[in-house]
Amino acid sequence: MNHSAVIAANRPSSEDIDAGQAIYDLASRLYPICRSITGEGVRRTLAILGEHLPLEQRDVASGTPVFDWTVPKEWVIRSATIKDMAGRTVLDFADHTLHVLNYSRPFSGTVSREDLLAHIHTLPDQPDLIPYRTSYYAENWGFCMPHRRLAELTEAQYRIEIDSELKDGTLTYGEYLHRGETEREFLFSAHICHPSLANDNCSGLALLAFLAAGLATRKTRYSYRFLFAPGTIGALTWLAHNEDRVDLIDHGLIVSCVGDGGGPTYKRSRRGDAFIDRAMAHVVSRHGGTVLDFSPYGYDERQYCSPGFNLPVGLFQRSAFGTFPEYHTSADNLDFIRPEHLASSRRMVTDLIDIVEEDWTPLNLHPKGEPQLGRRGLYAALGGDTSTGASAMAMLWVLNLADGDNSLLSMADRSGLPFEELAQTAQLLKAHGLLAYSGR
Ligand code: ZN
Repeated sequence: MNHSAVIAANRPSSEDIDAGQAIYDLASRLYPICRSITGEGVRRTLAILGEHLPLEQRDVASGTPVFDWTVPKEWVIRSATIKDMAGRTVLDFADHTLHVLNYSRPFSGTVSREDLLAHIHTLPDQPDLIPYRTSYYAENWGFCMPHRRLAELTEAQYRIEIDSELKDGTLTYGEYLHRGETEREFLFSAHICHPSLANDNCSGLALLAFLAAGLATRKTRYSYRFLFAPGTIGALTWLAHNEDRVDLIDHGLIVSCVGDGGGPTYKRSRRGDAFIDRAMAHVVSRHGGTVLDFSPYGYDERQYCSPGFNLPVGLFQRSAFGTFPEYHTSADNLDFIRPEHLASSRRMVTDLIDIVEEDWTPLNLHPKGEPQLGRRGLYAALGGDTSTGASAMAMLWVLNLADGDNSLLSMADRSGLPFEELAQTAQLLKAHGLLAYSGR
């Protein structure tokens, strides 16, 4: 695609701009909440998302076996501080959810400076940022802080209070199904376990909530399932509870890090040539983006694409995780994501849904030679330049490739023309009796 076509594809409509702002506003409400793989933060987040769509909350008890894993205990965090012996606060979880090691066990006591330092995580190369660290599957306590602030820790002893709890409770996730004409499903999934990180993944949660709300008024062929679940253990739990249904999934997309100005990036499913892979390659390339091959590292595509499931689930992002300096730090904040980027991410996912809904395989009913378009008023019907316009090219491409072997998406790939232009053209040609459904 040439440069001007990429720019045209990226130009937002006023609807896009409004949607981008609304998604940003929702992400801003989610951002301050301290989430983890279990606990109240996830439920508060689901309650806010539930204002936008009729979300069903599922609770699975701690200790429930899930394939090779076990649903962990529920984490409660009330407060966490480091104080000096005079009682002055050095670090306070109330100032930033990243300050406490996520899933930290409770701890109360006086420790030496040396012992304390062994429990503090910093980023020496990014000395002003707080790192995001977790300790889900090894019990530990700890804090995270800007490396530069270590210089403030000059005293011999400190008083530590981490008022947290790891108790038998539940793992919680949220789910919403938009029913289409068929039971065949499109699965959208976003992780809900990160605390105050805006791009990773308040952006994905907010975008999917708006997408789901928008679909409510649309009649669709496919059913669309939206899953808001803690990373890894949440996806595994959902898979374990829906093992008999996963064969219904024809397409799936993980959505994360969709609010920054990089990318866009699409990572293929393990299958590599699933419809979702071809459709997203088309969408992302129209926006000047990059398509990556599958690898078994990343978000919950790792679980959906494990060999026992091998579902057609890819990953959509702007900047790929781990490649931007703000990743998993306090710089992944509300200044890092922008409404206009959220708007264009939403546009891309909406374009994807259009492809999934509207792709079909036409058959040319006048395949011997070109049919005479002028006699049928078809050049004029498209209102374009009859000699060089893309619309005329779209007609010629569709008629030529409509041998029953090519769907509109294949035609888009081969012609380099946008899917929606070919879809409109095919409808027009069909209305004029030149195309029929091939039945394939
Ligand atoms: Zn992350």
